[in-house]
Amino acid sequence: MDWDQLLNVATHYLQDYIRVNTVNPPGNEIEGAKFFKKVFDSESIPCELFEPSQGRGSLLAILKGNGTKDPILLLNHIDVVPVEKERWEVDPFGGIVKDGYLYGRGALDNKSMGIVEMMALLILKREKIPLKRDILFFAAADEETGGRWGIQWALDHIPLLKQSAYALNEGGYVMLDETGRPDRYEVSNAQKVILQIKLKARGTSGHASMPHSDNPNVKLVQALEPLTKWETPYHILPTVKDYFLKMAPKQPAREREFFEDIEKGLRDPSFSVWLTSNPIFNAMVRDTISLTVLQAGSKVNVIPSESTATLDCRLIPGSSKEEFLKRLKGRLGDEIEVEVIAEGQSHPPSSLKTDLFHAIDRFAAESDPGCPVVPLLLPGATDSRFLREKGVITYDFCPFRLTEKELMRVHGNDERIAIENLGFGMRMLVKILKDVAT
Ligand SMILES: [Zn+2]
Repeated sequence: MDWDQLLNVATHYLQDYIRVNTVNPPGNEIEGAKFFKKVFDSESIPCELFEPSQGRGSLLAILKGNGTKDPILLLNHIDVVPVEKERWEVDPFGGIVKDGYLYGRGALDNKSMGIVEMMALLILKREKIPLKRDILFFAAADEETGGRWGIQWALDHIPLLKQSAYALNEGGYVMLDETGRPDRYEVSNAQKVILQIKLKARGTSGHASMPHSDNPNVKLVQALEPLTKWETPYHILPTVKDYFLKMAPKQPAREREFFEDIEKGLRDPSFSVWLTSNPIFNAMVRDTISLTVLQAGSKVNVIPSESTATLDCRLIPGSSKEEFLKRLKGRLGDEIEVEVIAEGQSHPPSSLKTDLFHAIDRFAAESDPGCPVVPLLLPGATDSRFLREKGVITYDFCPFRLTEKELMRVHGNDERIAIENLGFGMRMLVKILKDVAT
C-alpha cells in the first residue's frame, strides 16, 4: 500500500466533505450522503441512499464477505453542529489546510471518521482481501439532535444493520499526554443514561414595589440551593473499576493504590475530593446533575407568576431512575413541580471479551507498547445507545491520536485534525478490520 498517496487522497476527500454544509439544524445531510455515493459508485462498492424526510439523507455501503461471520458496522454521522463563524481563524466550511492541520466544522466530529471508514472499504476492496463478514459503512443523518432521522430510523427500516455482530462509532480516542506521547487508548463500551427534567415554581404575580412571600423566583432559587450541593452516591460499574485499574500504573505512588481499587479509594476523603474535582472522573463514578436553563420574569418591576429551571441529569447505567427522582424530589421540597422531559434507556456495557476489542488491543500493543487500552464510560450520549438497545456490541472509538487540548475543539471554534491522523486512522482501521474480518 502506498500510504502517502492514500493520505493525499483521504485529505482531499475530507476537504471536499467539509465543504458540504451539513449544519444541523436543518442538517441537509442528503448532500453529504451523495458525496459518499459518488465515491463508492466510482469504486464499484454497492451503496444505497435513504431519505426518510426531505433533505435528511443517510447512506449504507456494503463490502461483501462470504457470510461465515456476522457483519461489522462502521458508523459515522454526516451532520455537524452550528458555528460562530466570526470567531474562527479560517472559513469553517472552506476545507482549509494550514500548518499540518485540516480545519473545518466536522474535522473531528465526525467527518474525519466518515472519510477514514470510507477509505478502509476502498483499501480492502483494492487489495482484494477475502472477507468472512460483510463490512457495513453507514453515514447517518441527525446525530447531533437525537438520531430520529438517522440511526433510529435506520435501525427500524434496514434489518441488516441490526444483524451486525459489532459496531464502531465515535467516542473515545487514542489520548496523548501534554508532550504528545500516547497515554491510553480509550474505547468506550458504555454511556451514561439521559434524564432531563423541568422544574416549575408557581406563585402570585404583582408589583415589585410590594414584595410578598409567594414569589416563584424566590421559591425556585431556594429549592435549587440544596440540589446543587447534592453529592450523589458513588455507583461503580465493573467496567469503570477496570478503567481505573488499568490507569493505575501511570499514577503517582500515593494515588496508584487508590486507582487499583477505586471503591476503596473513594472511601478516602481527600482522594475522593481530588478524584471528583476532575469532571470526567466524577461523571464516571456517580449520577450527575447540571442546572442548565433558568427562565423567569421579563421586567424588572414585575413579580412573575411562575419560574422554571431545567436539569440535565446523567445516570450511571443500571441506576434506578425512580430512586433518583425520589431523592431529587426530597431535596426540592413540596412546592416545586417536577416533570421528566426526556429520558434514555439504560443498557449494560458492551462486552470487552470480543475479537474486536482484542484486535484493538493487539494494534495498541504493536503500535504503542505499554499504552493501556481502557474501557471508558462515556459521560455524553452517542448513536451507540440505539445499537446497544438492539444487542449490537458497540465501541465508541475514533482511530485518531489527540491531546485533551485538541479534543476541546470538538463543537468549538477552529475545530481541526492533524493531517497525519488521517494516515494513522486508515492504517489502524484497516489492520483491525483485517484482524476481525478475515
Ligand atoms: Zn459526533
